[in-house]
Amino acid sequence: MTGENAAVTRSAVVTGSTRGIGRAIAEALAAKGMNVCVNSSSERSLSVAQELAADLEQRFGVRAIAVAADVSQADQAKDLVQAALDEFGAVDVLVNNAGITRDGLAMRMSEEDFDQVIAVNLKGAFNCCKAVTRPMMKKRFGRMINMSSVVGIHGNAGQANYAASKAGIIGLTKALAKELASRGITVNAVAPGFIETDMTDALGEKQRAAIEERIGCGRLGAPEDIANVVAFLASEQASYVTGQVISVDGGLSL
Ligand code: NAD
Repeated sequence: MTGENAAVTRSAVVTGSTRGIGRAIAEALAAKGMNVCVNSSSERSLSVAQELAADLEQRFGVRAIAVAADVSQADQAKDLVQAALDEFGAVDVLVNNAGITRDGLAMRMSEEDFDQVIAVNLKGAFNCCKAVTRPMMKKRFGRMINMSSVVGIHGNAGQANYAASKAGIIGLTKALAKELASRGITVNAVAPGFIETDMTDALGEKQRAAIEERIGCGRLGAPEDIANVVAFLASEQASYVTGQVISVDGGLSL
């Protein structure tokens, strides 16, 4: 029960949380009583983030704000974290969920598609981790949770950029875990399998059936399947778990 203090209200930043897995994570953390900073990638989608923030406040009685920021830009990642610090007085939990795909065989992949995926998925996570490190160190408490993928562990044809970014997330997670463990800050990665979101909507019927056959549980995951694990890693109870990659894939990688 080290570090247990039920009276403390924790505050979280969840990147890319207007939809899909990020949205489910924002909901799960608010359901646990945490204040949540919802993040949209641009001003265009800020209204969706604002609606979610208002909904979280109403449903769970927590405080919530919405901030537009492109996490691939270091200054915007810094401003995102600062907005949460200004509003809540702390960022105890950072969930680096924002991610994109630009799929294609490596021989045909443009330099731009490679760079953009690395910039959002990997550098974006680094930018946000860096921005929360000092405030977390001051409080001697922190939870950083980075979204990897089974593809980052096993690779996937047509996703050289995405697989590299998600493998990079694992290296980033382990390095930061080593740097920060003595400061009460844990850093972990979650590696989802196939989850029902806009990202997997593009799968055709045949592809989907073939995938389902490979998943022990016999179904694609729901965003909540990931959010539940993130909520545990973000909790006081997970204080002795750090530098880990937790696969949440229904048995796909077995
Ligand atoms: P999604 O496309 O539904 O959501 C991604 C979110 O990231 C969106 O809200 C988007 O606006 C946001 N985003 C994109 N670029 C951003 C930027 N530069 N700055 C801030 N936000 C940005 O995808 P999802 O399926 O919910 O995926 C969430 C995370 O989980 C991603 O990191 C993804 O790689 C990972 N993941 C998903 C699956 C899956 O099967 N869906 C599997 C493994 C890993």
